[in-house]
Order: sequence, then structure tokens, then C-alpha cells
Amino acid sequence: MTKHRTETQLTLTDLIDASSSCPFCLSRAERDPVFTIQQKPLIQWLFCTQCKAYSASMMPTEQFLESYYRNYYDETQSKITVGRPERLARHIAQLLPENSKTTLKILDFGGGDGTLAKVLAEILRQKHPTTDFKITLVDFNQEKDAENEFLTFHSEPSLTAVKNQKFDIILASAIIEHVPEAHHLLQELFDLLADKGTLYVRTPYVTPLKKLFRHYPLKYPMHVHDIGPSFWNRVAKRYSNPLEILVSQPSLVASGFSKKKWLRSCVAHTLKLPTRMEKQLRNNPTDYFWNLMGGWEILFRKKNE
Ligand SMILES: [Zn+2]
Repeated sequence: MTKHRTETQLTLTDLIDASSSCPFCLSRAERDPVFTIQQKPLIQWLFCTQCKAYSASMMPTEQFLESYYRNYYDETQSKITVGRPERLARHIAQLLPENSKTTLKILDFGGGDGTLAKVLAEILRQKHPTTDFKITLVDFNQEKDAENEFLTFHSEPSLTAVKNQKFDIILASAIIEHVPEAHHLLQELFDLLADKGTLYVRTPYVTPLKKLFRHYPLKYPMHVHDIGPSFWNRVAKRYSNPLEILVSQPSLVASGFSKKKWLRSCVAHTLKLPTRMEKQLRNNPTDYFWNLMGGWEILFRKKNE
């Protein structure tokens, strides 16, 4: 298989065998290999027929990921995983239902430097000038505490540090695909929702593209999972948390129409279009015929208990 710039050769000491059960639904049913990511040691891309998730058969260890991301951030000089946080924040603000609370608690999980949550708070503040915001960033990278007249910002290294709190808005944008123990992570995120609280999730879904275009990168070991509508439209049923789905659709195209990115953006928009049409015509199906959308986003809301 062709090696891509983003794909790194891992040794046995960097890896944990995760082939015996699905990291999302914990099913021990045999999962079919779809691609080989690496020959020695063998790492395969497995499909779970139970929950419809794709995951790597071998997961990078915590130590490997720590040093990998440290180097990654040093090289890119940026901690944000989305090209234009303002655009994504405006998009999320449009999806969110009205919330009349005077203080909104926002959790930005894996949000790099927390820009997405800060910009989102500014946009929501324009709509509701009397609302205050308490932002907690949970990320491997720690940021300094900050505050202004309507916002406090604080960061924590892990979800364990906030486990006794509840949040009105949780952002998990382009992060779940990085976390090996995904079943437990989703449980933690659902548990952290306040009544009527919303969880916004965005993940890449590129396996169908890679089936067509052999060179399309899976971005392992950064991405250890790949999950689209068939996964997200079923996931809430596996947890006891009372959840409803407010939005489930192809994700926003992250790149804009600058000189360098216009072709990429055109292709991305074009590939998402048939899914958007199918969503309308088939009235939000669980599974789509057209799966070349490249990424999915979903907004969950916790129902009153
Ligand atoms: Zn599964």
C-alpha cells in the first residue's frame, strides 16, 4: 500500500491490540478488515457490523500519541484543528436551539486553544446580550485562564476534572476520531450534558472515499476511527441517557475559497451535495446510499429526565 505523508510507521511498542472488541460498541463479533494500514506489525482498518464504525485494529499508546501531538503542534505552530473557527462557530450557533439560561456553561472538548468556544460565545452574546458564559476547555494543551465582562475561560487536562459538572453546550469537533477508547468517551460526554444541554459532534467519514480513491489518506495514527451517518444515527440507542437528535447532516466544508483551497472546497461541496439531496428526499434516513460526503455532524440534546 502507498504510504502517505501523514502516515507514520509504528512499532510494536507504540501499539495496543484493539482487534478483539469494537472500541465504540464493545461487540466481540468479528470485524472485517477493509484496508491494511501497515504490514509490520499488521494494522488493519476494521468495520463493525453492529455499530457501523470503522476503527484501527491496533491503537497507538498514550505515550506515543503524547509525543506525536507535541511534535505535530510544534511543526504546525497552531493548536486549532479547524481552518476557520469563525465560520464553524457561526454555523454551530445557527444549529443550536434557543436556551434562555442567564449563564451558559460551554465545554470545548479537544478544542486546541479554545478559540471555537470563545467565538461561539461572542456570537451567542450578540443574540442575547444579558447572557454570561463559562467556558471550560479540556485539552492535552493547557491554556491560561482568562475572563472579560461576560465570559470566563478555564482549561483542564481531562474530562475527569469536570465529571461533577453539567454543561449546556458541549463541543466535540474533530476530536472523537483521535481517541482510542471511544465507547467510554461518548458515555462521559453524554453524562456531562445538563437538562436540555446540547452536544455538537463533527467527525471525518472518509472510508467510502478511500474505497474509490486508493490514495485518499485515512490519517492514521492521528485518526483511529472513521464514522458517518450509519454510526451516528444509531449511537444514542446504545446509551441509557435520554437523548434526541436535533441535527444529523454532512459536516460543513472546513476550507474556504481562497486561491490555494478553492479546488478542494469545490470538490468537497460537490461530493456532499447528493447526500444533502438524499437527506431531503428520503427524510433523514438512518443509512445513506451516497456516502462520499467526507464528514458528518450531529447535534444531540438531552431530554428532561
Ligand atoms: Zn461496533
